[in-house]
Amino acid sequence: MEKRSENLTDLNQIGEFGLIDLITKDFKIVNDSTELSIGDDAAVLNYKNQKIIVTTDMLVEGVHFDLSYFPLKHLGYKAVISSISDICAMCGTTKQITVSIAVSNRFKLESIQELYSGIKYACNRYNVDLIGGDTTSSLTGLVISVSAIGCVSKSNYVTRSGSKPNDLIVVSGSLGGAYLGLQVLEREKQVFLVNSNSKPDLSKYKYVVERQLKPEAKSEIVEFFLENKIRPSSMIDISDGLSSEIIHLCKKSGNGCVIYEEKIPISKETVDTCEEFKLEASTIALSGGEDYELLFTIDSKYLKNIEQHKEFSVIGYITKESNTNLITKDGKTTPISSMGWKSF
Ligand code: ADP
Ligand code: MG
Repeated sequence: MEKRSENLTDLNQIGEFGLIDLITKDFKIVNDSTELSIGDDAAVLNYKNQKIIVTTDMLVEGVHFDLSYFPLKHLGYKAVISSISDICAMCGTTKQITVSIAVSNRFKLESIQELYSGIKYACNRYNVDLIGGDTTSSLTGLVISVSAIGCVSKSNYVTRSGSKPNDLIVVSGSLGGAYLGLQVLEREKQVFLVNSNSKPDLSKYKYVVERQLKPEAKSEIVEFFLENKIRPSSMIDISDGLSSEIIHLCKKSGNGCVIYEEKIPISKETVDTCEEFKLEASTIALSGGEDYELLFTIDSKYLKNIEQHKEFSVIGYITKESNTNLITKDGKTTPISSMGWKSF
């Protein structure tokens, strides 16, 4: 909840330049490739001979987030994570970000500082430099856009295309938690709207709520690939849901897949919360978004390496035929349809 007390600072009291100064002053540069950072007309990067990866994400209040239950610090963190996750999905390492915000005068300086404390936390956690951005006003809500810049090592980047028939399909971590966290928070919001004295006890839902409010990018998995000289044949991060991401991968390579429902990793906390909400855990794992896990295909010669890693689940394989099929727990074959979360 953004702060609403009398002794908070109006943004027009400090002006645009004062605001930029205050929110950016505590960021430190840690990467050699950052030659010139905040404070000039543009930043300058020096990546020598490396290939550079660039990605942008935009989040709009009321469309992508609801500040009545999404703390600004977490929002800043998550906005950065979602861009780092895109660089991870290319098998790259993030080095810099730019952050642009549009804010209405309903926000106070202290709220924007909260947002930037989350951004700073993410920068520290992932060794990323904040090198610039833009600050402007909006008529009502908050808009935040994060661009991330990174590089790939000699082993090169990994795209959404490139899988071959019989490649293994692998997913990291577990799925569906972030979506359920959102369901819990939405429910508590409705309770609060009816009775503003209600104090939600979310301790039972700590895991799923954290998956929603504080996701992580899988940079350690990229490091694992690089250290072990393993290269996935294609990769994507799961922001919209497993079913739509697997369809993206298959379409891009002109092939299909078989996925086993029983192999899809779902945490116990997610299953328990699903039961309470009368939702089917596999459906949620297939269609719930925002887990930011990595989904990749890889030659089966790497099966040993994949099995050794505790974060990985092999959930199926790539087929020559272009059908994308799910084998259900009772052995039936059903087509996977794209049920991912869409912003339009
Ligand atoms: P210009 O007028 O050339 O666009 P600004 O006054 O907007 O310059 O920005 C001054 C410096 O502050 C630039 O280095 C810019 O990248 C940085 N900056 C502006 N807004 C932000 C922001 N919200 N977050 C991080 N850096 C910012
Ligand atoms: Mg500007």
